[in-house]
Amino acid sequence: MTKTALVCGAGGFIGGHLVQRLKREGFWVRGVDLKFNEHEQTAADDFAIGDLRDMDFVKSIVDRRFDEVYQLAADMGGAGYIFTGENDAQIMHNSATINLNVLDACHKRNIRRVFYSSSACMYPEFNQLDPENPNCAEDSAYPANPDSEYGWEKLFSERLYLSYNRNYGMECRVARYHNIFGPAGTWEGGKEKAPAALCRKVAMAEEGSEIEVWGDGLQTRSFLYIDECLEGTTRLMRSSFEGPVNVGSDEMITINDLARMVIEISGKNIGVNNIPGPQGVRGRNSDNRLIESELGWRPTRSLRQGMELTYKWINQEIKKRHNLLSCDK
Ligand code: NAD
Repeated sequence: MTKTALVCGAGGFIGGHLVQRLKREGFWVRGVDLKFNEHEQTAADDFAIGDLRDMDFVKSIVDRRFDEVYQLAADMGGAGYIFTGENDAQIMHNSATINLNVLDACHKRNIRRVFYSSSACMYPEFNQLDPENPNCAEDSAYPANPDSEYGWEKLFSERLYLSYNRNYGMECRVARYHNIFGPAGTWEGGKEKAPAALCRKVAMAEEGSEIEVWGDGLQTRSFLYIDECLEGTTRLMRSSFEGPVNVGSDEMITINDLARMVIEISGKNIGVNNIPGPQGVRGRNSDNRLIESELGWRPTRSLRQGMELTYKWINQEIKKRHNLLSCDK
């Protein structure tokens, strides 16, 4: 029999790619989101536009016993959205409500497997002050002290999913994503993340000019290419391990070095100018020991390969827009 999957947040970056992957695997897929994906036609068999904060809508789309449910919908964005403090109430209320609704509707349909995408942002700030040696081992989560309300909501929701496992015999799976990037993601408008923002800045920069980078540029991060993220996600979903487990790369880099990598990929002669701006914790890197021991897998694609593909896609998007504007004149 054909397997069925529900992808919440299917109009977003990871959800859009996940729908494509599940279709390639032969699933019948329903996608749900507030909007269609702005970059690509959805591959879903059925796509429902609606608000997952509305329980009546949630009940209407959780209308069968899906084999796999992926809950990726969240009110989120890059540092310019989640670290300024201006969107905290919205972020906490919206994302918590979505998780409460989707999980309970799944429970009431006797759906067992629900995947939840938590984030490395739930790790305590005090373990991420040294850019050279951040500690993001899964068991370092407590005592908790995330540096953003986005991180606190993730922590709450992780516990919510695992409590449904404990009390209702569900088999939810929880991953902590670390900075996922790739083509067909947000690259402008304020909700984009560092890899996409840097690609956009470099692609738009004039030869001999400088691009602006937030902070002193010495803050460190690791970034995971989308295909690797989906591999880790589906492996975890179909394993007997509930998590929470990191799904991330352990190839750590400073933001300035990432900017230089993008500049090198572009072949342009451009400088880097560090300016004040939101930057989050000083250092963060995925610790992949647990995923390797539990799933016998860890991501292997290099950051450089992923950045080349991402730069190419963003550069093409900018050119497409430029051509459209020239045609309008
Ligand atoms: P995204 O913003 O591209 O996708 C999230 C989608 O959820 C959006 O399309 C949005 O419209 C939808 N959504 C928001 N509120 C909704 C609502 N009320 N009803 C229906 N849909 C709603 O984000 P993404 O990068 O694809 O991330 C997917 C998940 O992974 C999120 O839960 C995010 O917190 C988590 N995550 C992502 C990263 C990353 O680097 N991209 C890192 C850590 C965790």
